[in-house]
Amino acid sequence: MHVAVIGTGLSGVATACQLLQRLPAGSRLTLFNASGAMARGLAYGTQSDAHVLNVPAARMSLYPGAPGHFVAWARRHDATVAESDFVSRRLYGDYLQACLDEAVRSRPDIEVATHVTRVSRLEAKADGRHRVWASGVVLECQHVVLALGHFAPRPPHQALADLPAKVYANDPWSPQTLEGLAPDAAVALIGTGLTMLDVLLSLRQRGHRGQVLALSRRGMLPLGHRDNELPPPTWRISPSLISITMPLRALLREFRGEVQRARKLGHDWRDVWGAFRSATPAAWGQLSEQERRQFLRHLQPYWDVHRHRAAPSAIDALNAAVDRGQLTVRAGRVLDASSTGIKLDLPWQPRGTSEVKVFAADRVINCSGPGSSITEKSSSLLWGLHQQGRLRRCPLGLGLEVDIQHRVLDAQGRPQAGLYYVGPLLKAQYWEATAVPELRVHAEQVAAACTGSEAQ
Ligand SMILES: Cc1cc2nc3c(=O)[nH]c(=O)nc-3n(C[C@H](O)[C@H](O)[C@H](O)COP(=O)(O)OP(=O)(O)OC[C@H]3O[C@@H](n4cnc5c(N)ncnc54)[C@H](O)[C@@H]3O)c2cc1C
Repeated sequence: MHVAVIGTGLSGVATACQLLQRLPAGSRLTLFNASGAMARGLAYGTQSDAHVLNVPAARMSLYPGAPGHFVAWARRHDATVAESDFVSRRLYGDYLQACLDEAVRSRPDIEVATHVTRVSRLEAKADGRHRVWASGVVLECQHVVLALGHFAPRPPHQALADLPAKVYANDPWSPQTLEGLAPDAAVALIGTGLTMLDVLLSLRQRGHRGQVLALSRRGMLPLGHRDNELPPPTWRISPSLISITMPLRALLREFRGEVQRARKLGHDWRDVWGAFRSATPAAWGQLSEQERRQFLRHLQPYWDVHRHRAAPSAIDALNAAVDRGQLTVRAGRVLDASSTGIKLDLPWQPRGTSEVKVFAADRVINCSGPGSSITEKSSSLLWGLHQQGRLRRCPLGLGLEVDIQHRVLDAQGRPQAGLYYVGPLLKAQYWEATAVPELRVHAEQVAAACTGSEAQ
């Protein structure tokens, strides 16, 4: 059997490790990764120890069946790591690399090949095999796993997209984003969520002293985890919230009521979110397209700050920047951008007003978060599949859809033999599909489907 995994961020590595436990002797596994080193991807490629996980160590094992795996590995490097710690994402990237190395070592009977290159095209052959095209490599295999991850963020305004990289950085995670920035430079961050927090922490690490404006539609900041998030949520979600099909408005009312009930009984709101997590895909699945649109327009910012919480140390750094007057957080939208080449004028409109303010920035950084809309620009590979009718693109720009075995659905909704997807674009189908606790389960299901074995 020959399996190709395209993309080796967390999703691809988790799938490869699971495949290496299941593939029959004599199989081949080929890994492709466009962005360089295997086993890093977007989230775990950072070299800054200021960037910490937003999930406690005890919940970050790569293997669903071995929950203590990450903590045991981390303690071999630093005996003081506690299960409740929010360790650095760089360390987690080292862990992914170690998992992959170990999994490869454990199967000398499987031929593993790695290619640092971008796969540009996939072709379905008449005999049911797939042909994979990348620069310098063309191969054929029975199974292809698409684990392409996140797309670059969309510029918040077209006028920014046309500006030189010296004044506008579209990719907040690129090593060049803060290059050449003077310590007292004025910086505008477009977006006020976890990506903004990442950039703020990088600025702090560089000793940045200049003014920072963080701007988003609603100006909502991420909320924090408790110091110890480990005890499993003791709150049991009311059956009425998860068992009955109801419109979005009613679901929202029920959910708010649930939080109030929990609070009255001395629980924390985070317990309700924790308990609702496994019910989220079913709740999302019963919403109509129109309701999902309404959710994205009106509720997503609230969802994001409650659901995607930050480590307490990151929230402390954020509050400290506000307290010392360095960081200003505002609700509003960018109206335009013009640059003299050195400075940039950023006209913006405070939310709910007709006023226009101008921020004179030395650099503007797009912190609106990774993209998920399949377009010719975001992923030529997926776009090609879409053009051939081999992929059902989410009309809301959230990604694509798969069947229960993670086989990619074509334009008619039929699963395609041997073509699988795992990764954050499944938020189109499940909404809750972007963090390790979900992705590692999806990866196991993909590996089980490829090899005809059972997920444990
Ligand atoms: C900044 C950040 C921090 C996060 N922190 C946490 C956390 O603390 N805890 C948690 O549970 N979750 C966290 N997440 C969420 C989760 O872990 C990520 O969504 C996860 O990294 C997704 O991994 P991925 O492999 O699907 O995608 P990616 O990490 O984006 O990796 C995809 C890989 O595919 C490659 N690729 C793309 N196209 C091609 C192609 N055509 N050919 C070959 N290769 C290709 C890319 O080069 C890349 O290496 C975080 C996410 C982000 C963005």
